[in-house]
Amino acid sequence: MSVLSEPHFHNEEAAFERLEAIVWPEGPVCPKCGNCEQTRITRVTGATARTGLRRCLECKKQFTVKVGTVFESSHVPLHKWWQAAHLLASSKKGISAHQLHRTLQVQYKTAWFMFHRLREAMRSGDFSPMGGEGKQVEVDETYIGRLKGTQVKPGGGAHKNTVVTLVERGGRARSFHVDTARMGNVMPIVRANIARESALMTDESGIYRRASQDFASHDVVTHSKEEYVRYEGEKTVHTNTVEGYYSIFKRGMKGVYQHCGEQHLHRYLAEFDFRYSNRIALGVDDNNRTVKAMAGIVGKRLKYRDSSDVGAE
Ligand SMILES: [Zn+2]
Repeated sequence: MSVLSEPHFHNEEAAFERLEAIVWPEGPVCPKCGNCEQTRITRVTGATARTGLRRCLECKKQFTVKVGTVFESSHVPLHKWWQAAHLLASSKKGISAHQLHRTLQVQYKTAWFMFHRLREAMRSGDFSPMGGEGKQVEVDETYIGRLKGTQVKPGGGAHKNTVVTLVERGGRARSFHVDTARMGNVMPIVRANIARESALMTDESGIYRRASQDFASHDVVTHSKEEYVRYEGEKTVHTNTVEGYYSIFKRGMKGVYQHCGEQHLHRYLAEFDFRYSNRIALGVDDNNRTVKAMAGIVGKRLKYRDSSDVGAE
């Protein structure tokens, strides 16, 4: 694993320095009182001092860069967090908590919580509209897993979790876990997340039958008639981009995560959206992607009721 040879993956001080450079580009900021006067923040040193410990001379509070992030209450060394983030950010179909448990030599439960905190870090805070003038956005739905207490029935998606995904061609993906695929559930998401100037592409599902009112255009590819792509002048009508996204997502959910509890599905979606929206074709390599994930730790906390939340994967 030569990609993990850099010091911050192994050395705790280097791990703190690297994270501090991302979270505090202008130098340390006191999380208690907001003091960022560098002469009024000192490093706490000495044999018993924790790595990265600072003291604010204004409010006397001690803190590290982990305060106010998804790492705050974690006892896992920061260099292991860097390794976990790199593994999750660079594995196209995801990576199981079991694999992380073996690689980092931490307990399975710890590994599971680590990946869920990192998924939270990967969750995008970007609510800006997708698409725009001259851009195409594809929308589709898929079904995954099985709802608790329901029977497996052949065909039909009613017993499964419904996912709606919007993908801008050549751009980002945004996915949502919804109760059922109905116009009343899906169209508000579509309208809130896609710029009106966009060209919308969907299949023939009735959910989208009134969508042409909301966007510059709405084109439909008729899968039931075995139509998968249609050329109309400059326009190429298909939903192959969003279907390509689902193919990666499903291979990951079935092969790596072996499905998941519905209460966690939105976090797996955040993970797949993150990697897709920061893929190599958009100029983001594994290292940049890891750094972006680590930048997302700020201002997010994740509380679990108890370890009964832990899933098997
Ligand atoms: Zn302070």
